[in-house]
Amino acid sequence: MKILIVEDETKLAHILEQGLKENGFVVEWAEDGGLGLEMALTGRFNAMILDVMLPVRDGFEVLRELRKSGSTMPVVMLTARSNVDDRIRGLDLGADDYLAKPFDFKELLARLRAVTRRPKDRIQSSLTVGDLALDLWTHEVHRAGKLLDLGPKEFGILEYLMSRKGLVLTKAMIMDRVWPADADCQTGSNLVEVYINFLRKKVDLGHEVKLIQTVRGSGYVIQDQP
Ligand code: CA
Repeated sequence: MKILIVEDETKLAHILEQGLKENGFVVEWAEDGGLGLEMALTGRFNAMILDVMLPVRDGFEVLRELRKSGSTMPVVMLTARSNVDDRIRGLDLGADDYLAKPFDFKELLARLRAVTRRPKDRIQSSLTVGDLALDLWTHEVHRAGKLLDLGPKEFGILEYLMSRKGLVLTKAMIMDRVWPADADCQTGSNLVEVYINFLRKKVDLGHEVKLIQTVRGSGYVIQDQP
């Protein structure tokens, strides 16, 4: 069971990390909301412990973006004891549970067990956009039930786009993610264009709904509506 902790208070994060490890969890820790969201969107975790007050992006923003991407990963939010509004807001945005600070570690364990005990399909193993489905474990991609034959770079770009469904990714972001070693290379944006064209031929050609869309002057977005 892999848990992501997003918490900027180093001391608390270490206590959580230590305690969870002693209870058999595999733990990774992000110190701010930006990194936390990035890690959460990889779909590698079974659950997330998410603080509300965080640098870069606060816990609500992280949760909103996560749910917008289609992720159903269980999230336990850490809120201030006095703040009822925060709890309601968190639950409205799709948190599975909350815990008021300061909390008892045993209570956290119980909450984590409860949210991860839910049906297995809640653990993210695939990404979908319309009739396009990408399996994160087998790396198989199907459109309308038909298996697509993608190269590793094509898969990498598609996974990145799908994990951020509805959000515009710039060529630089795609470059940075898929060709990190060549990110500064001048031909980078051409490379992205070339691969997006390959992808379009495999994903969208012959389908009425074009999922991979160009946002002029900005980049690319994947969504099932124009
Ligand atoms: Ca905090």
